[in-house]
Amino acid sequence: MTKAHIRVRFAPSPTGMMHLGNVRTALMNYLFAKQKNGTFIIRIEDTDFERNFDPQAKHILADLAWLDLTYQEGPLKGGYHEPYFQSQRTKLYQDELAEFVRKNLIYRCFCTTEELEKKRQRQLALKQPPRYDRTCLKLTPETIESYVAENRPFIWRFKLNQEEPVTVHDLAHGSIKFDLKSFSDIPLTRQDGTFTFMFANFIDDMQMEITHVIRGEDHLSNTAGQVAMYQACGITPPTFWHLPILCNAEGKKLSKRDFGFSLGDLRTAGFLPEAIDNYLAIIGGSFEQEIMSLEEIAQKFNFEHLSPTSQIKYDIEKLKWLNHKWIARVNIERLTQLCLPYLTSFYPEAKNIPIATLHKLIDMIRTDLVTLHDIAPSLEFYFKTPVLTKILFADIAPEHVAKIQKMVEHQLHNLPKPDDFMHQLKTDAHQQAVPTKALFMALRIALIGKAQGPSIHDIIEMLGTDEAKKRLQIFVNL
Ligand code: GLU
Repeated sequence: MTKAHIRVRFAPSPTGMMHLGNVRTALMNYLFAKQKNGTFIIRIEDTDFERNFDPQAKHILADLAWLDLTYQEGPLKGGYHEPYFQSQRTKLYQDELAEFVRKNLIYRCFCTTEELEKKRQRQLALKQPPRYDRTCLKLTPETIESYVAENRPFIWRFKLNQEEPVTVHDLAHGSIKFDLKSFSDIPLTRQDGTFTFMFANFIDDMQMEITHVIRGEDHLSNTAGQVAMYQACGITPPTFWHLPILCNAEGKKLSKRDFGFSLGDLRTAGFLPEAIDNYLAIIGGSFEQEIMSLEEIAQKFNFEHLSPTSQIKYDIEKLKWLNHKWIARVNIERLTQLCLPYLTSFYPEAKNIPIATLHKLIDMIRTDLVTLHDIAPSLEFYFKTPVLTKILFADIAPEHVAKIQKMVEHQLHNLPKPDDFMHQLKTDAHQQAVPTKALFMALRIALIGKAQGPSIHDIIEMLGTDEAKKRLQIFVNL
């Protein structure tokens, strides 16, 4: 038997920025399709015109491209199920709705928002589940006809079979049974004739032949209602995977207030897309090897043993660690390209540095970087002569500092050959009982203003003999 071709989709609403919850959903869909040679589809759910803050989903598509989450069908690419914007699919929904009418699966509800709210309050006061009381299901055909004749606003509701529980098949949770007794008949349209999320999302998944719906756990009760609709249409529902909600360190749902919630913030803060993808893929699972490319993750990810947890803790420290590892891992051309905007915003003159020099400079300090932002402080020494004061050498015994100053003075003529210079200094230090550690510390402070940093040899090479000499002379005269 041949297995059905897998089709998954990421279906964002362009209501604002991408946050890490969305990104993880997109990523899981991407990985699932990639591992299983399936098709990854992007569909933009832009039916809520008032909250449509990203026309044509330009930002979303740019974010996906930045994250390297490529798709096979969707906006800009097209595909068999075009269009991939819900705002352009109205005719399809109208046709499907007519089919629902024909099959007698839905009914008109003329209740006003105020009436519905009153009913809801009454039910809540009586400690009953607040569900629609089906007033309009009981209307006679004549009443309906007269209401329609007088143009009373209405919505279409899907008639749930409340007696029959539905079962959702979920990759992580197994079979989840829902009793529909407390569910309201599902609104499929709004009073202005537009279609609701519940309907448009269901129709699209059905028409686009989606085999697996991977989305956040917050959609679980929507899934129950949609599965009921699949059943009413006599269609096998897709398999679902409800992803755990991302939480902050206190266990609360991640929100705008948490740093690193918005993808844009992370990007500005100097995180690499590789690190973000990597991090969001491995949290919630356990992997022998943690640093992985999308390709490697797609191979290793075990979709057969998914954790049924409903929360995942978002740990910015771990993300920083991964970012640090990725900065060390990417090739120098790419790293330089990534770093340059951060560097030039502090030191515009960096634009004029020859590319080969930039590569060397960045390569020298790349293992010190946690985010791309750290590039400016790490390379500060190159752009600014440190201001030396005695206090900077406080961790070295004063008699050692004095000896080192003398030694350096005598060896300055060797600077054009940094190896010789260092060799001589080490010999001198040994003879005069100055610990090598003290020598290195003093030289580094003299050259870059701090005790930690790249090797002395590299620093001299990058600064050039003249500049290094100038700085060491200041030290000698201190
Ligand atoms: N537009 C919905 C959302 O952004 C899509 C949910 C789904 O994936 O079905 O939450």
